[in-house]
Amino acid sequence: MTDWDRDSRTATQIIRGEAPGRVRIRTEPVLPVIRPEVNGSGTETRPVVFDIRDMGVYYGGNRALAGTTFSIYRNLVTAVIGPSGCGKSTFIRSLNRMNDAIPGFRLEGQILYHGHDIYGSRANRVEVRRRIGMVFQKPNPFPKSIYDNVAWAARNLGLKQRLDQRVEEALRQAALWDEVKDRLRDSALSLSGGQQQRLCIARAIAIEPDVLLLDEPASALDPVSTAAIEALMHKLKHRFTIVIVTHNMQQAARVADRTAFFSLDSTGADRTGTLIEYGDTETIFRAASDRRTRDYVAGRFG
Ligand code: ADP
Repeated sequence: MTDWDRDSRTATQIIRGEAPGRVRIRTEPVLPVIRPEVNGSGTETRPVVFDIRDMGVYYGGNRALAGTTFSIYRNLVTAVIGPSGCGKSTFIRSLNRMNDAIPGFRLEGQILYHGHDIYGSRANRVEVRRRIGMVFQKPNPFPKSIYDNVAWAARNLGLKQRLDQRVEEALRQAALWDEVKDRLRDSALSLSGGQQQRLCIARAIAIEPDVLLLDEPASALDPVSTAAIEALMHKLKHRFTIVIVTHNMQQAARVADRTAFFSLDSTGADRTGTLIEYGDTETIFRAASDRRTRDYVAGRFG
């Protein structure tokens, strides 16, 4: 068993409240309280979930992303914003190895997740996806019942005990339980778009991940459903670390604690995306230090 396997078992057992047996116990609380975590000189002391080091991405011979270095912290919502084609989706999909299947995809640099190199030779891709869940732009429920959608990943992982309880808990966390509790056997496709997206969130959190990656989760939804998803993010960050890609700057300002602004290197023919600025959302929107960030958030390009 590698350290990676040992750690992941431990985290699962603790979340489930089970005895850890022979594996090491993590000391972090399952439902941490969110509070400012900076030391006297203003340096972040909050635990780092992703430590991204000089990350670059190629699709074949084309470089989509270069020189990206920053840290994503626990129990915060981190928004990734920037003009179309700057690599936002590439970036977020790289955080749980969702790009692996794309022919020609290659990542350079490192993405450390709780200190583990998720592209390292000892990383287990299945485990990465289990710990780091993802929800996409377009709601994509399976053509199965509401219940079976939420139970799907748990069943696949062999987590069959107390399945009803697991499904209910996930639906409650996704703020969908009250709307569907009397129709769990109905097709998920009978739900509205907004409900389907909350179902996808329930499906992702039913296996108790640590991180939720949301790639434009509300861009296909009406304003009421969008507001419901945003409210949900404020609630869920107490339990999960959330990274969201959004092209909607107001949404980033409403939901995110931290914001990373990516843009394209517009000089010459090289159209490589890169991280321009990262910081507190308020600073990025009101007092960014880079002119390109200020221009983008003011709507002057993109
Ligand atoms: P954004 O999400 O900011 O719009 P993307 O990450 O989708 O940006 O795209 C960044 C760059 O990577 C673009 O030049 C795009 O054409 C390229 N790209 C994205 N996905 C693929 C893919 N599957 N194959 C080849 N190139 C891709």
